[in-house]
Amino acid sequence: MSPTPGVVIPTRDELSLQPLLVSLAATPLPPTAQVVIVDDRSNPLPDIAIPRELRARSAVRVQRSWGRGLPAAANLGWRVCDTEWVVFLPTDVRVTLEWADQLMRELAAAGARTGLSQGQSPAGRSRHGAVSPWSLGDLAARRDALNEVGGFDERYRCGSRAAIDVALRMHRDGWLLRQAARQLDHRATQPRPAPAPPYRCMADDALLRRMHGRRWRQTIGAPRGHFGWHAGTTAAAATANLAAAARGVGAPIPRRLPLLLAGAAVTSSAALVATRVIQRQRPGRSRWSTAAAGIIESPVAVMQRLRGELRHRVAAAWPTEVLAVLFERDGTLIRDIPLNTDPGQVRPLPGARAAVDRLRRKGVRVGLMATETAVGAGDVTRHQMRAVNEQVDRLLGPFDTWQLCTHAPDAGCSCRLPEPGMPSRAARELDVPVSALAVVGHLGEDVTSALRAGARSVLVPGPNTSAAAIATAPRTARDLQTAVELIVRGDVP
Ligand SMILES: [Zn+2]
Repeated sequence: MSPTPGVVIPTRDELSLQPLLVSLAATPLPPTAQVVIVDDRSNPLPDIAIPRELRARSAVRVQRSWGRGLPAAANLGWRVCDTEWVVFLPTDVRVTLEWADQLMRELAAAGARTGLSQGQSPAGRSRHGAVSPWSLGDLAARRDALNEVGGFDERYRCGSRAAIDVALRMHRDGWLLRQAARQLDHRATQPRPAPAPPYRCMADDALLRRMHGRRWRQTIGAPRGHFGWHAGTTAAAATANLAAAARGVGAPIPRRLPLLLAGAAVTSSAALVATRVIQRQRPGRSRWSTAAAGIIESPVAVMQRLRGELRHRVAAAWPTEVLAVLFERDGTLIRDIPLNTDPGQVRPLPGARAAVDRLRRKGVRVGLMATETAVGAGDVTRHQMRAVNEQVDRLLGPFDTWQLCTHAPDAGCSCRLPEPGMPSRAARELDVPVSALAVVGHLGEDVTSALRAGARSVLVPGPNTSAAAIATAPRTARDLQTAVELIVRGDVP
């Protein structure tokens, strides 16, 4: 383990990333530093440009998380690093020499049970001026602690809520959490993108409450939320409307009641708008658009919270280990014979039987996926395909799920690799979260399919594996046994 932390930068915005990369190249972190940029654009083209000076200093990797959100991008990043510590950086900042020095000192001074060290970054500052104690901006995390709690819960949409959730789970497991003094240079080099509207985290608060109980804010020292205010404002406005309507149809309601309620709602809403405008809480936006956003904020916040309550009403704990493995069939588990219709030709590859058996003994569900485009194209009949697969089942089965793409190559189906259909469907059929599913394959398209679905993956290179696939796969293993070993340890990006 290297004492230098790995640097993980989840990003969706290349423009605000460049000044950070330039500053990293100029900052003498020890030359062994690993830098992982996780490109979370849904369509990650064109490639992110890496300054030559940075490439010369550090091992830079670009991984793609296909628009699955900040927590998923962060998970991919820390799992790719093999350092003792990982530090997550936001994109709209620059690192400085003082920051790097202080980070190294703070991590060196952290005890073996310290799980998190949070730098003081404005990314944690909410639009209400209150500071969220934990955020993905300048968060250093001990890799073992992240692994123990299963990483970030990818159901959160806000980075700060995902960080608070990880802090709460580490706290529960006895890890120490530190607020550190280091500070990034956050003088924006680009016009800062307008921050997300403050109500976006409301749905996440429903999940935090479900996972950690109603006292999660006290446990972690988070400032009080504003949901009560939003709920009160919205309720007053709604009741005013109802009372007015009831009076209209002759209900015995005092004449002043609708007016009083409407007045309360307007006053409360106006106070919110005024705070927003005075504090200029949405940089980059005009005062008028800030005011307009303030007026609709309370009802939208209430709606978001209700959506969150609904979405997460039966949410289970975030899984800490891999619960199911989907093996690619031809070239990974059995010898690849194109257009094979003879069951007698089916030969398991070395270690295949032992690998699937070891997983089954560990209680990990095992599935199989294969592309059968020859069926869609009419070169192989369904009957022939079934006979071959029955032989695979006899030699290596039973499998808990079979995923077959039998469509023609030009059918435009969602299961043709590297589309994400087969891993997604396997997770649904096995009733496991897709993030607890690992795909084991020998081609780049197997890995891409897993990444796009939100699953984890190990590439086991074979004779047909391209050099590009090996260079970009988040994790490779030299054989099936090693791949299974990594999966059982839960150490798979
Ligand atoms: Zn298909």
